[in-house]
Amino acid sequence: MYDVIIVGAGSVGSAAARELSRYQLSVLVLEKGHDLCAGASKCNSGMIHAGYDPIPGTNEAKFNAPGCSLMYQICDELDVPYLKNGTTIFATDDNGMKELQKLLHYAELNHVRAQIVTPPELYDLQPDIGKDVLGVLWVPDGGVTNPFSVTFALAENAYHNGVEFLKETEVTGIRKTDSGFTVTARSTLDPAAISSQASYVSFEKTAAGSTSAGDCSPVTCSFETRMIINCAGGHSDVINNMVSASHYHIIPRFGAHVVLDRKFSEKLTTTLMETPHDLPGGGHTKGMAIIPTLGGTMLLGCDATEVGDPDFTDTRRESIEQIVDYFKAAWKDLPTGSDGSPFPEDAIISIFGGCRPHADTNDFVIGEAEDAPGFVNAGGTESPAFTACVAIAQHVAGICIDRLKPEKNPSFDPYRKMKKAFRDMTNDERRAAIAENPDYARIVCRCEMVTEAEIRDAIRRPLGARSVSEVKLRTRAGMGRCQGGFCSPRVLEILSEELGISPLEVTQCGGRSTILSGRACQGL
Ligand SMILES: Cc1cc2nc3c(=O)[nH]c(=O)nc-3n(C[C@H](O)[C@H](O)[C@H](O)COP(=O)(O)OP(=O)(O)OC[C@H]3O[C@@H](n4cnc5c(N)ncnc54)[C@H](O)[C@@H]3O)c2cc1C
Repeated sequence: MYDVIIVGAGSVGSAAARELSRYQLSVLVLEKGHDLCAGASKCNSGMIHAGYDPIPGTNEAKFNAPGCSLMYQICDELDVPYLKNGTTIFATDDNGMKELQKLLHYAELNHVRAQIVTPPELYDLQPDIGKDVLGVLWVPDGGVTNPFSVTFALAENAYHNGVEFLKETEVTGIRKTDSGFTVTARSTLDPAAISSQASYVSFEKTAAGSTSAGDCSPVTCSFETRMIINCAGGHSDVINNMVSASHYHIIPRFGAHVVLDRKFSEKLTTTLMETPHDLPGGGHTKGMAIIPTLGGTMLLGCDATEVGDPDFTDTRRESIEQIVDYFKAAWKDLPTGSDGSPFPEDAIISIFGGCRPHADTNDFVIGEAEDAPGFVNAGGTESPAFTACVAIAQHVAGICIDRLKPEKNPSFDPYRKMKKAFRDMTNDERRAAIAENPDYARIVCRCEMVTEAEIRDAIRRPLGARSVSEVKLRTRAGMGRCQGGFCSPRVLEILSEELGISPLEVTQCGGRSTILSGRACQGL
C-alpha cells in the first residue's frame, strides 16, 4: 500500500513529490500524459511572478510571494537557469496610472517589493521605453525561467530520492476504503512495465481470468493508498468530484503566445506587461506581456478565452491576430519599437498555447476535503500556480506529513547537477566537453546549437525523453528559427538507437503520432 498517491506530474505534482521525498514514505505519481508536464506547466509564459497582483487574502496571494522566493531557491538547488530581470507593468493613460496605484497597494499587502517609477527616472530603468509611457510599476523580484525544465528537474529529483512515477496512466476512479482509498487507473503501458515501475499495483482480471498483458489495449489497474494529493490541473475538478461532495468546476482559459526570433532581446532589460484585466467569468488576466526567454527569443502574449476542454492547445487565427494586433499598436511604447520600427511580423517563428485551470471558486483550491479525510486538493491552479508550485507543494505535503508522521529520509539529496548547455559554454569548456565525450562535437540542432551528447543525455536521464517533442522540451532542439526542419530526422534516429525501436515507431509526442509511414525502398 502507498502512503501517498499524487495525481498529475505538472509543476505542482512534481513539487509535491519532491517535498514528500524528504521523508520515508512510499509515494507514487500517476500521470496520464506520454510525458511528465503534459498540461499547463508545459505551455505557460514561464514568468516567475513576484505576487503584486493577486487579491490580498486569497490563496493566490498567500502562495505567490513565498512561491516566488522558493522558485529561485529550487532553481539554484536543481541547476535550472533563470533570469531575475524584474517585471515592469506600464501605463499609457490616467486609468492605467490608477491601476498601478491599486497594484502598488496590493503589492504592499502581499509583502512584495514594488514602486511606481515615472520619467525621467523611468529612462534609467528601461532606457528605450516609448515616450507615451506615463509610468510603470517596477517589481524587482519578478523573473523568467523554463517551466518545463523546472518541472522535469523537480520530478527527476523526487525520483532520485525514491518517488515512483507512472506515465501514460490516467486516474479514472477513486473509492474510499477503511484504510484510505483505492485508485483505479487506465494505462497504455503494458503490465510488465507497470509492475516494474510501481511497487504496489493490482491488475483487473479479464473475463478469461488473466490480466490484459500482451494486447495493446489499455490496462486497468488499481492502487491502494492512505492519502491522495490531487494535482491534476485542468482536471482537478474531476478528481475532486470523484471523492468529495464539495464540488468545484474548472473553466479552462486558453492563452496563446507568439514567439519572436532572437534579434529583439538586446533592448529589453525587464519583462514588460500591460495592466491586468478583469474577465467576465470572474478573476482576471495579467494582460499582454513581452517576455524575454532564457534561449534569447521573445514571447508575446497571452490572451484569455474560455474554452470547454482543459487539454485544448490549438492555436487559432483569432487568438494570434488578437496578440499581433495588440503589439502592432503597442510596439511604439516598447523598447523594441520606440525608435519607430514597425512590428516585425517576419520575426514570428512559432506559436503555442494552453489552458489555465481557472476554478469557479476564483481561487486556487488548496487543502484537505472536509468530507474526505486524507484527500488533499492542490487544484484550480491557474496563474500564478507555476510560480507558487513549491509553496503549494510544501503546504499540501505538510498535511500528509502531519497525518502520517513519517521519519525523515536520511539519504534525501536536494541537489541535481546538470552540465552547462553547449551553446552557453566558453570555447575552453567546449574543448573539454568534446575531449570527454566526442558526441559533443556533433551539432544536431544548428539553430539552438544542441549537440548529440545533450540529446542522448536527455533520453538516458531518469524519466527521460521518448519522443521528438520530449527531446525538444529537454534540450531546445527544434525550438529555433527552422522549428526542427533540419534536426528532427537526426533526433528521430537517435531516439530509435537509444530506445532500441524501429524509426517507424518513433513518435512526435507519443500515442499514434508516428512520423514515418513506411520504408521508401528495401534495404534501409
Ligand atoms: C497561457 C498560460 C500562461 C501562463 N503563464 C504563467 C506564468 O507566466 N507564470 C505562472 O506562474 N503561471 C502561469 N500560468 C499558469 C501555470 O501554467 C499553471 O498555474 C501551472 O502550470 C499549474 O500546474 P499544475 O501542475 O497544477 O497543472 P498542470 O501542469 O496542468 O499538470 C496537471 C497534470 O495532471 C495530469 N492529469 C490530469 N488528469 C489526470 C488524471 N486523471 N490522471 C493522471 N494524470 C492526470 C495532466 O496530464 C498534467 O500533466 C500560465 C498558464 C497558461 C495556460
